[in-house]
Amino acid sequence: MDENSSSAPTIKQVLCPVCNMLVDPREAVEKIEHGEHAHYFCSAECRKEFEADPKKFH
Ligand SMILES: [Zn+2]
Ligand SMILES: [Zn+2]
Repeated sequence: MDENSSSAPTIKQVLCPVCNMLVDPREAVEKIEHGEHAHYFCSAECRKEFEADPKKFH
């Protein structure tokens, strides 16, 4: 019995650049767009920390 049920939804998660926690971009409320790329954060606190020194996280 061969079943080709490889229809697992691909949820592309990204890391919060501040604390390295996995964040689902579709649910991320804290987000910064930098032109070509975007950053997603797990919380407002992480976003604030990022904004305080963005270069640190690039
Ligand atoms: Zn975070
Ligand atoms: Zn950036």
